[in-house]
Amino acid sequence: MPATIIDGKQISKDIQAEIKQQVADFVAAGYQPPKLVAVLVGEDPASQVYVRNKERACKRAGIDSELKRMSAESTTEQLLDLVNQLNQDPAVSGILVQLPLPPAIDAIKVLDAISPLKDVDAFHPENVGLLSQGRPRFLPCTPFGIVHILKRSGIATSGKSVCIIGRSDIVGKPMALMLAQKDSPLGPEMANATVTLCHSRTKDLAQVCATADIVIAAIGKPEFVSADMLKPGAIVIDVGINRTDDGLVGDVDFAPAAEVASHITPVPGGVGPLTVTILLENTLKAAQLNQAI
Ligand code: NDP
Repeated sequence: MPATIIDGKQISKDIQAEIKQQVADFVAAGYQPPKLVAVLVGEDPASQVYVRNKERACKRAGIDSELKRMSAESTTEQLLDLVNQLNQDPAVSGILVQLPLPPAIDAIKVLDAISPLKDVDAFHPENVGLLSQGRPRFLPCTPFGIVHILKRSGIATSGKSVCIIGRSDIVGKPMALMLAQKDSPLGPEMANATVTLCHSRTKDLAQVCATADIVIAAIGKPEFVSADMLKPGAIVIDVGINRTDDGLVGDVDFAPAAEVASHITPVPGGVGPLTVTILLENTLKAAQLNQAI
């Protein structure tokens, strides 16, 4: 039987409406509206689109936003100066440095300079450390978006076996940390999974994958996960965004996989919309932390 196709756009809309209300309540209580500052270095077309989408989403939720543009020739020091300025500005709740940065810039140095209390992408080592200890401050946007998707689709992770393919610092690794914890901000049923974190050196990946109740693909290779790698009835979350001649495709071979899975996220319209939504959630949280609500 074909899988239920999870509507990430609708889930994202629902959560954004809730955030809008929470922002309105925050402002009505006498606090300054949350404010996100995005820093864009250079003219990368994809980054420009991402930043514009983030600005639009902020506006819809009643969150102030500002874009700081810097030339592609900027130095690490110039970027560090800007980040320090934003760290000290009480009107700024959250800071986002759009990646990738030009190769001449020391990206780690710049990301590490963001105040951990304004680190809405949750990349700072202090926030990664808090997550790994099971007492998260901010949760990374894409993996926490996936937890929201699962929760709102009525899928608990507790006791389930989860195969995550891809171990990046942005998706795979924090996803594994989150699901393996004893608890989650969305409830213990959204944690407590038995997690296998796979990567390019994993042996017998297809076999490992075929034993999982939930498969999360974050590889960056078009249609890499085939239907025969899935256990019948598996839940399939496709994080991949791959531009091909046929348009955007995910990391999962969607149509055949949908014949085997019980639930599956499409690309586009699955995980993607949640990433921006959690950024809004984190910006509100940053405003609450920085204004000591
Ligand atoms: P990275 O390139 O940083 O990581 C890819 C991971 O996949 C690595 O861990 C790599 O293993 C693993 N991998 C590569 N080839 C294989 C293979 N043959 N078998 C098993 N594992 C393999 O990617 P990201 O995590 O940044 O992104 C992954 C995908 O998700 C991309 O398509 C990206 O565009 C998309 N994405 C989507 C987001 C959204 O909002 N929906 C947000 C972020 C990313 P190893 O570590 O051994 O090299």
